[in-house]
Amino acid sequence: MAFPSELLNGYSRYLHKGFLRDKEIQEHLAIYGQTPEVMVVSCCDSRVTPEGIFGAGPGELFVVRNVANLVPPFEATEGQHGTSAAIEYGVTGLHVKHIVVMGHCKCGGIQAFRESANQDHAQKGFIGRWIKLLEPAAISMACMPVDKIEDPQLAMEYAGVRQSLKNLMTFPFVKEAVEAGELKLHGAWFDIGSAELRVMDPVTERFETADGPEAMPIPTVAAE
Ligand SMILES: [Zn+2]
Repeated sequence: MAFPSELLNGYSRYLHKGFLRDKEIQEHLAIYGQTPEVMVVSCCDSRVTPEGIFGAGPGELFVVRNVANLVPPFEATEGQHGTSAAIEYGVTGLHVKHIVVMGHCKCGGIQAFRESANQDHAQKGFIGRWIKLLEPAAISMACMPVDKIEDPQLAMEYAGVRQSLKNLMTFPFVKEAVEAGELKLHGAWFDIGSAELRVMDPVTERFETADGPEAMPIPTVAAE
């Protein structure tokens, strides 16, 4: 089976544009290693690319992506914990200063969890087991509805981010770094269609449209 030609075409464009632009940075990174200050936990969804959304170049973001951008709770059990391994390296190896858990609209993993109550649509296999991580989020959402919003999918997307932030604090090295003021945890949510970014207020746990340092309005595309 031939290697996908669109990938080779893309690689060619990258070599002649992106790599040429970042050549010195990449050479520096290759020699001296990476020192990203921000780690992002994002969904596998092809429409939600952390580097693209945050305009980050090589060496700037340490990213782990999984179904529904979930952080499992700390576990001392045997087993291959991929996301936890990335968090361990990000915090204890790279000493990132921020971890951003970024949810997004129309998340298929969240939708699968919501539908899993219905046996006909229950997810089996790896996905089914993975999205069970959302159960505590659903319970806390039912007990303490922070979001009085109509859209249950959106409410669950927010609840998943909040739960992942809680789970992050169960990792001893994360808790220690947060309490020492060396690490900050953040929740975010991205709207695919409009590119709106919402950031979670750490006190109220509500998601508000990000108005960064320059409060940039989202440009409208002029009709041609
Ligand atoms: Zn998703």
